[in-house]
Amino acid sequence: MGLSNALVDRSAFERGRVPIELSGWLPAVALPTYAALNGDIETDIVVIGAGLAGGATFLHMVEAGARAVLLEARQPANGASGRNAGHYLPYLDDLETFKKWGGGKGERLFDFAVANRNIAYAISAKYELDADCRQLGMINAAQRPIASLAKKARFWRQHGYSVDEVGGKELAALVGTDHYDYGLVWREGGRLNPYLFTNGMVSAAQALGGSVYGDSPAVSCSREGSHWRIRTPTGSVMARKVVVCTAGYENTPFLPELDRGSYPLVATALATKPLPSELVKQLMPSGAVIEQHPGLYHMLVDGRDRLISSTIPAVGKAHDAALYFSAFRAWLNKIFPVSRDFKIELDAYWSGIMYNSSAVYHQDYPSVHHLGDGLYAFLNLGSWGNFMGPLLGKSLGESLAADRPDDFVMPFVAPKRKMWPGQFAFAVRRVGVPALRLADRLNLS
Ligand SMILES: Cc1cc2nc3c(=O)[nH]c(=O)nc-3n(C[C@H](O)[C@H](O)[C@H](O)COP(=O)(O)OP(=O)(O)OC[C@H]3O[C@@H](n4cnc5c(N)ncnc54)[C@H](O)[C@@H]3O)c2cc1C
Repeated sequence: MGLSNALVDRSAFERGRVPIELSGWLPAVALPTYAALNGDIETDIVVIGAGLAGGATFLHMVEAGARAVLLEARQPANGASGRNAGHYLPYLDDLETFKKWGGGKGERLFDFAVANRNIAYAISAKYELDADCRQLGMINAAQRPIASLAKKARFWRQHGYSVDEVGGKELAALVGTDHYDYGLVWREGGRLNPYLFTNGMVSAAQALGGSVYGDSPAVSCSREGSHWRIRTPTGSVMARKVVVCTAGYENTPFLPELDRGSYPLVATALATKPLPSELVKQLMPSGAVIEQHPGLYHMLVDGRDRLISSTIPAVGKAHDAALYFSAFRAWLNKIFPVSRDFKIELDAYWSGIMYNSSAVYHQDYPSVHHLGDGLYAFLNLGSWGNFMGPLLGKSLGESLAADRPDDFVMPFVAPKRKMWPGQFAFAVRRVGVPALRLADRLNLS
């Protein structure tokens, strides 16, 4: 590990605010940084926040020909986007939520998502990103047939997805263990390095003419005639349109209407040191991402032959790398007996926050707000930013560049102050995850 976890305050883990240098996704050689904005400039559109949401929105508007500026408080992928677990799952988990949206927007999102389900791979290929973006599949693995998974597979197959139900023998060949008897193989699923992918989108947009400023937190947003002026500590940008992609609402005190607009949930993640090659050949030979059903444990082997996993920590335990690494190792040794013969060491352990629009898992569609003339916010990517960021960033970026906001595939919703933002974290951390851990210990899952 570079920066030592021991030097970081425990509460920073709990708040998902540990330095990004703890994330296992950073490359050995640091990426070039973006200089701060210095002085007053003018453009057509300003995007605030360079995560998956802001990076993708910015890239697509610049691609579509807009003059645009990206302001990032630190450097791109400093937030959740540089800290996530790297799973790419290109389907929509809950269709009931958007059936309630009027104006055919639910159907539009559905069709758009299906048509663009390979968007991350497409962006990566188009700009030759070095982001380990690999379409090697995602596997839901279970010990017995699960009716809800079978139904899901049938549904998405009807819509052209390559997803199959498989039995134990086929799974063993893909996964490298005979622990599971049933699974779904999502062939369009895969993995990516979210830190490098996000940075890749930003640098691709810069190469196309977009202007990027790091170390430039937006500190105010005020109306001046037909324009907005966004101020940073060392300059300002004037633009007709602004898209706020800052994820954690506390980072935008200048837009109080966004205050308490999400349900935050802390998650921790870990990366091991590269595995011995004899083990890599036996563990996950397909290279797919595995998610055990029900969803407590998951894992991928990345392009550097490391295991990556994440979890939702117990309250007050987010800092405890040893605890979560040992829980992960115990699971690994149980499911993949071959791993017991090898020394597997922890290389990195970090935390981050997922901001959710709903207190119900998988109903957490991102929130896209229209806050005033030309002022938008694209937030709450929940636990599926690797797909939702590029997907909705494409639609939002292109519609704003074309000055046709109504073309955006989701409805703009009014910000809604959450009465109890801790509700979701309470339910997941105090009830849901402990119940799953117990079921796993009793071998009921
Ligand atoms: C541990 C963990 C595991 C996860 N696993 C997965 C996964 O496997 N697959 C998946 O799809 N999703 C996963 N997620 C969720 C995913 O990471 C998020 O949905 C996504 O990163 C959110 O992107 P974002 O752009 O909205 O926010 P962020 O990435 O947080 O970006 C917001 C950016 O705005 C900047 N900012 C904030 N305030 C200001 C300001 N005032 N001025 C300028 N800039 C500002 C921040 O510095 C930051 O860079 C996981 C999340 C975590 C924490």
